[in-house]
Amino acid sequence: MATIELQINGNPVSADTTPDLMQSMVIREMEAQLQVKLQNITCPEHHEEPSVIVNITRNKQNISVGACCKQLTDMTMAALQQQ
Ligand SMILES: [Zn+2]
Repeated sequence: MATIELQINGNPVSADTTPDLMQSMVIREMEAQLQVKLQNITCPEHHEEPSVIVNITRNKQNISVGACCKQLTDMTMAALQQQ
């Protein structure tokens, strides 16, 4: 399974530690959607899975992908851009 980290204004947030119930629901929903998009993404060469950081700052999403090689980075970005 891909590793997904969500950040708001650069601070990591987790559904389990967020005191705000609404925010925690939004985080869970986003994580679930990202996992669905990334569920079949594995590097064909190294058999690694990507780690993805989604940073939300002023309603803009910034996505960073950590991967073993460019091929997996490209696959991950392509999967994330699908609706
Ligand atoms: Zn690779």
